[in-house]
Amino acid sequence: MKTALFHSEAYGRFDYGATHPLRMERLGLTFALMEALGLTALAGARVVAPTPASESALRGFHTEEYLEVLRAASAGLAVPVPARYGLGPGDNPVWPGCYEASALACGGSIQAAELVAAGEADRAFAFAGGLHHAMPDRASGFCYLNDAVLAIQALRTRGLRVAYIDIDAHHGDGVQFAFYRSADVLTISLHERGDRLFPGTGFVDEMGEGAGRGYAVNLPLEAYTDDAVYLEAFDAVAPPLVRAFRPDVVVAQLGIDGHRTDPLTHLALSVDGFAAAVRRIIELAPRLVALGGGGYDLANVARGWTVAWALMNEVTLPDALPEPFVRLAATHLKGRGLWDRPAPLPAHVVRAAREFAQRQAAELERRVFPIFGL
Ligand SMILES: [Zn+2]
Repeated sequence: MKTALFHSEAYGRFDYGATHPLRMERLGLTFALMEALGLTALAGARVVAPTPASESALRGFHTEEYLEVLRAASAGLAVPVPARYGLGPGDNPVWPGCYEASALACGGSIQAAELVAAGEADRAFAFAGGLHHAMPDRASGFCYLNDAVLAIQALRTRGLRVAYIDIDAHHGDGVQFAFYRSADVLTISLHERGDRLFPGTGFVDEMGEGAGRGYAVNLPLEAYTDDAVYLEAFDAVAPPLVRAFRPDVVVAQLGIDGHRTDPLTHLALSVDGFAAAVRRIIELAPRLVALGGGGYDLANVARGWTVAWALMNEVTLPDALPEPFVRLAATHLKGRGLWDRPAPLPAHVVRAAREFAQRQAAELERRVFPIFGL
């Protein structure tokens, strides 16, 4: 087993702004926890510092006009009507280096895909990526450039079939958009229902178009969906479809904003439940390109992605967070555990979430499964 971890110290230089929920320090904290647990010096695993994606690589998905505008805004130049490109105060502020930081995340994800395509790694993890909302001509949902689309394109260029599995609490709309008419890329997104949460899409009837009909799969979930309900829903939908599709590579977006303490969403996963979903994805993946994604409780981000990386390397972790990390991350920590304690929800809340998930899964079985001969 050969694995590769993509990380750059350069992210520490960037900042969305003091009040923005996406904190760049989550990346450094994650790497620090991996380091404290010995996960950055494993036999068979290499740690790679990515280089920024070139503008021509970015043009694989993004328009020349948008790239020009983003680059100018990032350099502090005045841009006419930035809102036309999704830029401005709010979700996608303009900050110094927003182009460079985004191009670096794209570089990491593309290079992870290239390493896996070349057989130099069986599993690669570029946890600064997973910026799944960015559209060809505009920023959206804290995402300026869509590294996930570019990584999938890099695999497609080499003729590989790709299944994309997105477990972020938000619908992976940018990735779905990119491959909506393609039967060569199966996109599966599990997320909090779009009528309750950004970006407002990701319903079961968004199934793909033309040759791609059936190859976009959406499983919306109710608020307070807990580990058990989430994993049942995942098992009902993802394994049968991925197995029937027979991908060469799985690209996974591992957003951890579905955690029960995440400030932006209403799902109720624990780190343990997140890890169980990641384990299932690893089992489904002949080869794996894993990306990061959302996550706005910084301690969860560090714990969740460290656990994910350990699973990719088949390393068993201890229960307690290591002391050096506890000191470093003290202000972000709610406890000393790497894992979460059970926090059961009221039975009627769980029942409602389960009934909702089962209805959605049944709809997908009726609409999408027959397309795959299931
Ligand atoms: Zn998200």
